Amino acid sequence: MTARMNDGGDGDANTRPPDRVFALLGNETRIGIVRALWEAYDPYADDDAVPFSTLFERVGADDTGNFNYHLGRLTEHFVRRTGDGYELAPPGLEVVRAIVAGTATETPALASTAVDATCRRCGSPVEITYEDATTWARCTGCEGYWPSRGGEIFGFSLPPQGLRERDADEILRATIVYSIRRFETMSDGVCPACGGTVDAALAVCDNHAPDGVCDACGSSFLGVLTFVCDSCKFAWRSPSYAAVSNHPALVAFYYDHGVEHVPATWAAISRGLDWEEERLATGPGPLRLTVTHDGDRRRFVLDETGTVVAVDD
Ligand SMILES: [Zn+2]
Ligand SMILES: [Zn+2]
Ligand SMILES: [Zn+2]
Repeated sequence: MTARMNDGGDGDANTRPPDRVFALLGNETRIGIVRALWEAYDPYADDDAVPFSTLFERVGADDTGNFNYHLGRLTEHFVRRTGDGYELAPPGLEVVRAIVAGTATETPALASTAVDATCRRCGSPVEITYEDATTWARCTGCEGYWPSRGGEIFGFSLPPQGLRERDADEILRATIVYSIRRFETMSDGVCPACGGTVDAALAVCDNHAPDGVCDACGSSFLGVLTFVCDSCKFAWRSPSYAAVSNHPALVAFYYDHGVEHVPATWAAISRGLDWEEERLATGPGPLRLTVTHDGDRRRFVLDETGTVVAVDD
């Protein structure tokens, strides 16, 4: 069975116009209803529906007719009526999760704060900042690996909720876990934001400067991977080593040398920065990465989509 779903364009009976759907939420009472149903929501319970009278009380509305009208509008899409009352339908849950994550509604920031990490390149202390829903790790001593923000080692996304009840080191760790796991989803061809298909490309600089940030390509990496979702434009750019970081031959290589290589850690990211990149004129792909440890090596060839196509020692 190789049938593919259509793209859900106009005229599809399963697709609702976004202006109408979002307009359904543009009211204080309706958001109050969605929140009250969320409070009652239990992912593994069958009896978490809220009866009309209880819901009316919890939202604190004072006019039954008006309340009933708003509830009726929500049951077109976000709320489901059951035998026992009302509960959130999957689109309602997604709305609440977006509210909880805070991505669309909150804009917290974190000023430069030292973390327990050092720059692989120069050994200086690392600081993080948080702005635009992104945690930026910067070196206090050198220009980092990308030119866009001074001293940038990486900028990884984390929803605002990820800052709550975490200190700077915990924020750094949460950011790496959240982002690297999503990156792996992306590199497996599934968009972590929308589930759509992903285009992958590996660009290898033609005229690369061997040290520091290269003027020709704008990074300190010979190979740069770019992933873009076909549907929602969610995009990701990373050094070539990220394509190899969770490859079984790499994890096994380190394991055999007594090193536990866990991709979603600062240690694994730093380790990747040391791997040697080499442009290949001939062979199965344009770029080879060489990993060395205790005098041994393992080499990986990447094709133009960043897929590992050859491994040798
Ligand atoms: Zn540095
Ligand atoms: Zn370059
Ligand atoms: Zn997407």
